[in-house]
Amino acid sequence: MNKVIIFTALLLGASCTSEAQQGQRMRPEETEYYSPVPPVVTPGSSYGDAPSDAIVLFDGRNLDQWMSSNDSTSAKWTLADNAMTVNKSTGDIQTKSTFTDFQLHIEYRIPSNITGTGQARGNSGIFLAALPWGAGGYELQVLDNYKNTTYVNGQVGSMYKQAVPLANASRKPGEWQTYDVVWTAPKWNENGTLKSLARVTVLHNNVLVQNNVTLLGDTPYIGMPSYRKHGPAPIKLQSHGDKSEPISYRNIWLRPLQ
Ligand code: MG
Repeated sequence: MNKVIIFTALLLGASCTSEAQQGQRMRPEETEYYSPVPPVVTPGSSYGDAPSDAIVLFDGRNLDQWMSSNDSTSAKWTLADNAMTVNKSTGDIQTKSTFTDFQLHIEYRIPSNITGTGQARGNSGIFLAALPWGAGGYELQVLDNYKNTTYVNGQVGSMYKQAVPLANASRKPGEWQTYDVVWTAPKWNENGTLKSLARVTVLHNNVLVQNNVTLLGDTPYIGMPSYRKHGPAPIKLQSHGDKSEPISYRNIWLRPLQ
C-alpha cells in the first residue's frame, strides 16, 4: 500500500469516527419536527385528473373562465367534444382570473389533417403570464414538431426564443398531448428593481423539457427579452396567424403556489 492510499484511508477513518461520535451525542427526535403540517390534497384518480385543491379553468363544458384578449368580451373559441378549438378570426383568449406562482396542467391536440411547415404548422402558445405590452408575456411554445423542424429555440417545449427544450417529446398529430408546468413569476422590490427572475419547469408528455430554467425576460418574436414590472397576470392561449388548421385544448387546471 503506498503512502497516498494510507493517508486517504486515515482521513476517511477520522471523518467516519467524527460523524459517528456526533450521531451518538444526538437523539433522533432532535432532527424531527411536526409543524407546519402540509395540507391534505386528494390526487386525481389517474394522471391528468385535477387534484382536490385545483382551480379548474376548463373541463370541456363551457368557456366561463375565459375571455377574448382583444376586447375582454366572452371567449368565442369553438366548444365541442370536451375540447375548445382556436378561432383564428377572434384571436387569443385569456383567463378572467389572474395568478402568480402555480402548477398548471393543460392538454392540446394538433389536428390530424395539419398542413404547413416550420412555424406555420399548428402554432399556438401558452402565455404563463399574459402582459398587455411588449411580447405579450412569457410564451411556452405549442407547435407541431412531429417530423417538422424549425429553429430549436422556437420548437414545441421551448420558452420561445429563450430556452431550448431538453427533448422533443412530440406525439403524432391527432393525438392528445400534455404539458405540466411549474411557474415561478418574477418579483419586484417596492422601488421597482427586480427582486427575482422568472423560473419555469415543464414536462411535455411526461418528459422533462425545461428544468427550473431562469428567464431573462419576456419572449419576443423580434429582439431581446426584457422585464417590466407586473403583478398577478392572466394565462393566455395564442391564436396564431398562420394558415394551418386550428388546434384544440382540453382539461386545463391550476394549483396556485405560495
Ligand atoms: Mg406560438
